[in-house]
Order: sequence, then C-alpha cells, then structure tokens
Amino acid sequence: MTPAAKAMNLAPYTMPDPEDMTGLPTYADQNPNAQMTKGNPEPEVLPCVERITVPYTLGTFPRISMPFPRLTQNMSPGQVQGIEAAPKQYIALLPHGTGRSFYQRRPHANREAKAFIESFDLDTDGIDIALPIAHHPGKKPRDFDGPWPMILSGASPELRDFLLWYQTFAVNENVTFHAIAFNLDAEDWVIMTISGDAVHPDARSIAKALGSIKRRLWADTTFVNFVNAVFAQAGIGGSACERVVEATKSFQLTYIDTGNAKGDHAPVYQLTGKPISKEPETHRRWLSLIRGLRGGYVVGMHALVIDKRFVDCVWCKSKMHPAHGCPFHGVDGWLGTKPDNVQRYLDRTHNQQKDEGHRVDGGHKANNKGKGRQEGNRSDGWSTVGRGGRHNRYTM
Ligand SMILES: [Zn+2]
Repeated sequence: MTPAAKAMNLAPYTMPDPEDMTGLPTYADQNPNAQMTKGNPEPEVLPCVERITVPYTLGTFPRISMPFPRLTQNMSPGQVQGIEAAPKQYIALLPHGTGRSFYQRRPHANREAKAFIESFDLDTDGIDIALPIAHHPGKKPRDFDGPWPMILSGASPELRDFLLWYQTFAVNENVTFHAIAFNLDAEDWVIMTISGDAVHPDARSIAKALGSIKRRLWADTTFVNFVNAVFAQAGIGGSACERVVEATKSFQLTYIDTGNAKGDHAPVYQLTGKPISKEPETHRRWLSLIRGLRGGYVVGMHALVIDKRFVDCVWCKSKMHPAHGCPFHGVDGWLGTKPDNVQRYLDRTHNQQKDEGHRVDGGHKANNKGKGRQEGNRSDGWSTVGRGGRHNRYTM
C-alpha cells in the first residue's frame, strides 16, 4: 500500500447523503438499458443508401442487449451448445414481438430474412439462417413469448459489423428483426422492480426512494460484508464503508408509467445498477441480498413492494418499458410489425391467462423457482434470482 493510500484509509470516512445524486449514477454510459443503435465506432463499410432495393426503416433505435441465457432460453441444447462454442460465428436475429407461434405462421421466416439481408449492397455470400429449435417442443406455441431468435451464420466481417451496428431492421409486418450478438459476457443491469404507493414520477420522490434503498443497504451488515469481500477479492481498495457506497453509485431508479392487470394506474420503478461481479453465483447473491433485504424498504411510511410485478415488453423484450410504451413503433417511418389493436391484445392475453393461471404475459419468468430452463430460470445468475415463492407477473 502506498503511503498516500494508507493515509487515505486512516482518514475518517463520512458516509455521503444517500439521496444526493450529484455526479451519479456512475457508469451510465455502460448501462445496457440506456444505449442507442448506430453508436461509435461506425463500421468501415456501410451499404449505399442509393442502392437499397428493399426499403427498411432508416433510423436510430433503442439498443437491445441481453444476457446469453435469456437470449437462448427457448432454444434446444444442441443449438445453444454450438453457439456457446463459437459465439462470434453467429448472430441472433430476434423477430420483433413474437412468440413461437410466429414461426408456425411464418414457417419460412428464415428465408424471408435471408432474402432481405442479401439485398444489401454488402458481401452477403454464404450466409445461412436457421430457425430456432424449441427446447420444449410439446409446449403450446404462444403469440408472445420470451426471445425466439433465428440464428445467422456465415456472415462476412463487413456484414456482421453492419448488422450489429444497425441492429433493427423494419421491412414490413412480417419481416422485422433485431440483430444481436451472442455475447457470453453480456450483463443484465436490472436489479428489481418496485411497486406500491411510494412510486411517483417526480425527481424528489425518486431521489427519496433510491436514497432509502441505499441507506438501508449501507446499514445492513450482511450486505456490507458481502460487498466488502467481493471488492477485496477483485483488488478494489477502500474500507468496507467506502466499498459499499461505491457498489451502489451506479444505481438508477427509472419511473415507468403503467397500469396493473385490473386496469388501475400502477406505475413502477425499475432499479438498475452495474453488477459488481461477472461470477454468476456472486451476482445471484448480490441480487438476492438487495431484493430480500431483511425488514424491506420503507419510504414515507409506504413499503417499497419488491418484484411483485415485472416489466417485460412483449415487442422488443426490454425490461425498461411496458408493451404499450414500446418506442420502436413511434420511430419516424416505421415499416415494421405494428402493435395489436386493443381488442386483439385483450383476446390474446385473456387466452393466455386461461391457459396459464395467473400469468398473462409472454416472456421469461424472472422469479419462479422450480421451473424449467424454458422460463429463463437457469442457475447462472443472469436469469436473475428471487426470494422464493411465486409472484404474479403482469404484461404491461
Ligand atoms: Zn419494447
């Protein structure tokens, strides 16, 4: 330890005001939930706009990124293992707003996507697109579901760079997909969804709620000891107090305006933060300690209700907005899949509700134990962990 560091450690550390967000959150530029497509660096080769033969929406979109286990949650092990062995040889083409029934209606969706990609003014020789093979073939196909990407292989470097950089290709009602890298290191920054009477849109309420979460975590010996040990192992300096403050600096509370299954106005907060470890077991522990904090969280006498509801857009699979708030359809010149009208949507969700009891959405279930891999409940930490028990989950 250098003398300067030693002196720093000896100086008394004053815990900051947990509600003070000056200079926070840290790492905002890395938050996978807050990026846009067409970032820097731009690929060296781009298709010439004048030579577009099949029109698609020209625009910038919210960037979709998801952990490998979630992206492949519905795929057969044969496909997943092949991708895992050489992830850079493949690209996920995630159809917009689909479940497995999409492939029943469009059994040649892969050929349609291939024909579109081959229309680019780029080297597209030798590409192949495979349909996903269901991990649980017997399961009833649904209109909306967790991710069901097709698998592109054989892309030239220039095609790969362009597809991943541009990401969202909206061609028509049936051909709309997002190109996503199979990234084994992709992180999930969503920590927990908060509902209850303390959830309000104004900055003051958000700061108070986030402040109360940090205050409680900083005072929890189990959490402090856990963070202290993880940071020590990672060689990150500081006292236990400094480390626990540091670990929560990237925390961000996002207000999401939505209703509940009964139609009542019931907004939620989504808490995101940079994971402190890439180790799945450590990440699971991190999540479960925050979500399951003994005594819970209270703001102005209202409980912060943790993970009773979830945000999971059925269209783009984002956890940061509900289906009715999906920003893609509002992009200027959107040529792609259109959202359901209200009646179709209600019919679908009603049918699914009848099929599956309390679940009314498509998508992976973040919080149920004892469920199969199909539901995204792999024990790898990135499918998130709950405090046990079953929770209602609503499409929003
Ligand atoms: Zn969406």
